[in-house]
This record gives sequence, structure tokens and C-alpha cells, in this order.
Amino acid sequence: MKSLKTFPKGGVHPGDFKDLTNKEPIRNAAIKDSFIIPMSQHIGAPCECLVNPGDEVKEGMLIGKASGFISANIHSPAPGVVKEITDIFLANGLKTKAVVLEPSGYFDQLGKNIVPADWNSLSAKELQEKIFNSGIVGLGGATFPSNVKYMIPPDAKVEALVINGVECEPYLTADHRLMLEKSAEIFKGLEILQKVLNPEKIFIGIEANKPDAIDIMGNLAQESGGKIEVVPLKLKYPQGDEKQLLKAITGREVPSGKLPINIGAVVSNVGTVFAIYEAVVLNKPLFERVVTVTGRGIKNPSNLKVRVGTKVRDLIEDCGGVTDDTVKLVMGGPMMGFTMCSLDTPVTKGTSGILALTEKEIGKSVQTACIMCGRCVKVCPIGLVPTKLYKNITHRRYQDAMHLNLMDCKECGCCAYVCPANIPLVQGMRLGKKMANKKVKS
Ligand code: SF4
Ligand code: SF4
Repeated sequence: MKSLKTFPKGGVHPGDFKDLTNKEPIRNAAIKDSFIIPMSQHIGAPCECLVNPGDEVKEGMLIGKASGFISANIHSPAPGVVKEITDIFLANGLKTKAVVLEPSGYFDQLGKNIVPADWNSLSAKELQEKIFNSGIVGLGGATFPSNVKYMIPPDAKVEALVINGVECEPYLTADHRLMLEKSAEIFKGLEILQKVLNPEKIFIGIEANKPDAIDIMGNLAQESGGKIEVVPLKLKYPQGDEKQLLKAITGREVPSGKLPINIGAVVSNVGTVFAIYEAVVLNKPLFERVVTVTGRGIKNPSNLKVRVGTKVRDLIEDCGGVTDDTVKLVMGGPMMGFTMCSLDTPVTKGTSGILALTEKEIGKSVQTACIMCGRCVKVCPIGLVPTKLYKNITHRRYQDAMHLNLMDCKECGCCAYVCPANIPLVQGMRLGKKMANKKVKS
């Protein structure tokens, strides 16, 4: 048998715990009594809020307008009345304005058989506009506005469009279920992207722990005429990172500080491609996404289609609540996610999972001194020296950390995962980047 492809440097093999939800079909999350809709759900400038308290809004109505080149529109997840505009903190610690909405009235999109739009008559430019207007961002977690990603410089050519169906974070199964249940729609989204980007070749990367998705997507790829190839990948974290994925599939390396397009490639997540299908074919802006709610602390682990702005509290209640031995709630996956302090934190476009973890799952970790074992260096997929970076950051030598390529850190968590001294290396990297950026701006 041909050996499976993967990226060559570093990486780890955490237990995947996907069996908790990988057989759970996607179901609609219940709509509760209020939504908290942040005006910043993407990389880039926050949206300009277009509504005021007392305003009535419709489902899918534009309520936040992109306010810069790198920004993305935000649409109302439900019809209702704006109760309040307030400041909130997101799970990643970012403070942002948010619209508090009390749902009421008629749901235009819920459960309706919408007549597909004749998108074939649209030009590549018009499709780009549609993607921008619909507020599409990268749903793999990066939340980079998709229309900006798809603006290809005139001197560049997309040789490879790589679709990310890797989902290498433990516990998460949202993309897996999407590939099983919405494969035809994802391929329709791919047709749209082909018109926008005109790639020479399309690859769909899927890790080998999803054989059913590899089969379904592989069959559709064969039927589509040979330009699309499904590439089964060896299990290794962080293969879902776009630079690692490109290395695994094309063998090409994106240089430090450069973008995939600099090597003739564009990477998009399967969830993003599905959102493009919904936006272009169904005229539905991005106001809901699939979220895996799981962990041994969740009574009924599930994959839910969730409207953005839904509170974590409501999702957990939808999944039967948490067990008494739950000790930690995480937004995102266990490797790159953020520990949550409040159950009122809302789901955003970038939320792929909510985890309730028990003490048995995370264990008790006591931080000790670095023993210079070098394990963190060995697993860093970027080739950084995490122990040196951390030391510089804790001594506030941010410029020294920058010289050691701190900004190349992907915050993948591999270093912290293997550290026998339980040193919070990723938190250190995040802090270091923040402080270094502050110094550059001041
Ligand atoms: S978190 Fe950063 S330093 Fe640590 S392994 Fe990942 S890329 Fe390397
Ligand atoms: S893995 Fe931890 S203990 Fe080992 S060198 Fe890195 S920081 Fe130090």
C-alpha cells in the first residue's frame, strides 16, 4: 500500500476522542431567548454596527458592515428586536461591541426549500462580491475574510486549490459530519470556487481516520472529471494548519512571512466551501455554522448547526448539560482553543467546538522548571525553539523573541503538549506576540 502523505517536520499524535460524536448527525440547535452577536468575528477591523436598541431586524439582515479592507459583514442570525448594544469579551480575551437580540417574528430561512439561484450566469467578479456581501470567512478557525483571500494578484496564478478536510484537532467532528452529510453541496461550492480562482488542480486533504468521508468525497471527485483529487493523509497534528497541509500535499513550503499564494496555492476549509455554496446558491449569508459540543463532561455530545450569537450556556443545555466532574470549558479544540470564563460567551463564525472536559481527561498539571529536555524543539512544526522564546518573553525581551521568529509561531500547542514541566508555552507565545505588536505600534 502507498504510504500516506504528511508534513515532514515535528508534530504530535494526541488521542483523538472523535468517537464521542463522529456518528452523531448534524441537528439544528434550539433557538433560545436571546442572542449576543459580536461585531468582531473575523481577523481584521471590527464591523460598524448598523442597528440601535429598539430596531426590528429580519433573519439574515445586514447588522454589521465591514469597516476596512480586511473585515467581514455580519448578519442577523434571527428575526427579532435589538435589546441592547453592549461591550463583551470573547473567549480569546478580545473586547468587542455586541448586539443583544431578542428573537421574535418570522424565520425566512428556517426549514424552507429555497429555489437555487442561477449562479452560472454570474461572472467571477460578481461571485467574489457575493462572497464578500455574505460575510464569508475561513471557518477552519482562522476567520480570515474569504473575499480578500480570493483576490489573486494579477501576476499570480492559482496552481493548486487545496481544500482542508483534515480536522486534526482532537474531539472535533463538525467538518467530518459536513463531508458525510453535505458532500454534494461542498462540490457545488467547489464549482463556484473554480470559477472564481481558475485553479489548475484541486486537492481535498482528509486524514485517514475518516475513511467514510474519503470514500464519499473520492467518489464525487472521480465523477467530476479528474481535476479534483482526494488526498488521504497520515494522522498527525497540526496537519490542518494551511502551511503544513500545503507541505504535505504539494511538497512546497510557504516561506516565513509569506502567504500560500506566493507559492501558487490557496487553501480553504470544507466548512467555508459549504458556506460559499449556501451564500451563492441559496442566497443565505453566513449566520450559522456546525459546532461540535463534546468532551466527557457533556451528557449528550452532539454536532449542532448553530446560529452565531447563541450563548454557550444554551448549547450546553441543548446537549443535556454537564456532568458533576467537569472542570474545564474550552471554546475550540483542546490544542488551540481558549478556556472560557463565562457561559454567556457567544458562538462566533470561528467557533468549531465547545468542550466540557473532566479532571480525568485533562489530569492535574503542576508547573515545574524547564529541564532543557528539548522535546518542545523536536515537535515544533515551524522549527522554532519554544523554550528560548518563552524565556525571552517571560523576561520581557520581546524584540529578542521577535528575532527568534516569534511571529511564525502558529500557536498549535505541540510544544506545550509534550512539555514534561507543564510550562504554559502557548500562552507565553500569545502574550509575547501581543506585547511585541504593542511595542511596534507605540
Ligand atoms: S505553539 Fe508555536 S512554538 Fe509551540 S510548537 Fe506550535 S508553532 Fe512551535
Ligand atoms: S519541553 Fe518543556 S522542559 Fe523540555 S525544553 Fe521545552 S520547555 Fe523545557
